[in-house]
Amino acid sequence: MAKKFVRAIFPGSFDPITNGHLDVVTRGMKLFDELVIAVGRSPIKNQLFTPEERVEMIDELIKGMPGVSVESFEGLTVEYAARKKADVILRGLRSLTDVQYEFQLAMTNRAVAGIETIFIMTSEQYGFTSSTLIREIASLGGDLSNLIPKSVHERLKQRLKTRDSGLGTRDSASDERRATSEDTILNT
Ligand code: ADP
Repeated sequence: MAKKFVRAIFPGSFDPITNGHLDVVTRGMKLFDELVIAVGRSPIKNQLFTPEERVEMIDELIKGMPGVSVESFEGLTVEYAARKKADVILRGLRSLTDVQYEFQLAMTNRAVAGIETIFIMTSEQYGFTSSTLIREIASLGGDLSNLIPKSVHERLKQRLKTRDSGLGTRDSASDERRATSEDTILNT
């Protein structure tokens, strides 16, 4: 029997992309024929990087990864998945805390759109890495060399410098924590 072509979307904020996200992408690309990294344009979350900047950073990093692409999207994740004719939603798992939240999200997406979610567990070394934590460590000048790609680190330092001098977008960490689960379903 011919193997079915499987297209997956990997939705998220990616503000910014971390080595943990990339670990999920690298594992995912071995499982799917096509993997679209989908950067959510959230109307609620106040983010550090614009969707265009996040897409640009990711685009540089996925060069040479066969079948992997990136784009931004607006609105419901499940509606975007339908537009892309995606077979599955891919999400990453770090801990038991993630499981509870992701379980609810996956069940909701399946209930409203009948789409399955597939989870990939991160490597142990990225189990504690989150974009929020990365932004906090970066703003305190901590060493991030093992947690994010060099190109992302450079952009982050630059953005925090302009933000601290009052020119950039304000920090989104606290806004992100306040974001509701409805927002995540809206665009994960
Ligand atoms: P969201 O705002 O939708 O949670 P994120 O960009 O924070 O977007 O995360 C996108 C996906 O990547 C989520 O499934 C999240 O659990 C997963 N993820 C985030 N960080 C890591 C990591 N270090 N290792 C594995 N998966 C991760």
